[in-house]
Amino acid sequence: MATYRGRFAPSPTGPLHAGSLVAALASWLDARAHNGSWVVRIEDVDTPRCVPGADQRILQQLATCGLVSDEPVIWQSQRGHRYQQALNQLVEHGHAYPCGCSRKDIEAVLQAQGTHRERHHIAVYPGTCRPANGGLRGPSARAWRFQLPGWAEVHWTDRRLGPQTQNVATDVGDFVLKRADGLWAYQLAVVVDDAEQGITHVVRGEDLTDNTARQIVLQRALGLPTPAYMHMPLVMGANGEKLSKQNGAQPLDLTDPMQALNAAAGTLGLPTHTGGLTQALAAWTRAWAA
Ligand code: GLU
Repeated sequence: MATYRGRFAPSPTGPLHAGSLVAALASWLDARAHNGSWVVRIEDVDTPRCVPGADQRILQQLATCGLVSDEPVIWQSQRGHRYQQALNQLVEHGHAYPCGCSRKDIEAVLQAQGTHRERHHIAVYPGTCRPANGGLRGPSARAWRFQLPGWAEVHWTDRRLGPQTQNVATDVGDFVLKRADGLWAYQLAVVVDDAEQGITHVVRGEDLTDNTARQIVLQRALGLPTPAYMHMPLVMGANGEKLSKQNGAQPLDLTDPMQALNAAAGTLGLPTHTGGLTQALAAWTRAWAA
């Protein structure tokens, strides 16, 4: 196996809460259990959602828990040139095209076709601006989309959840790489950075599971390796959905870091006595790295 490299990639939309600590802890434990390295990457491409100072707060909170990046932290907001290079490469090879559709245009086409389908409130793009359909409509390019290849059914195996299949064409459609407002989409940024940082193992929350197939098709189009993926249980909010600021997640209370770590370890199914990182690492190693 290539030398293990793992990462934690928080979006600085607020301080860490109990749910984000679980993802941080899981990725750190897996890296340590494999004698690998662990890096932190701040995913601040969606600038309107980022909260000033949240990045530093997250890094401090992690440090209070004993979780410190083995290498200098990187910020995606400083890496637009790398995402542009990747987009150029995709365009050159016919894997990306400009799209002039507004949300309303997309809705109208889907209504007319009687095929309205959506996922997480985002309509499956009907391919209106695909070069084969006549290319860009409307006055100007608003966004850049990935042109899915014919083989858009992706099979992959999650280390915890087992075999997964997703047909990205019917489930998502040609997805956005660069948004109409000029911001880089998460899918492109994460794929470029995981490859450039040499990430061999991605360990993250289960809510991200269904992004994986999109990331795999993008990796293949860019000629990049696919890391091993493992998606971990989420902490649920009072409304039964993933804990988030919207459903009442409080910033992590770190007056007792050991207690916070033990609670996170409990969510991961590890014994939650009083052992903190050392005990969690021993249990993780037995469960996932034996
Ligand atoms: N930045 C993403 C988030 O905070 C995580 C991305 C990832 O781990 O791939 O939800």
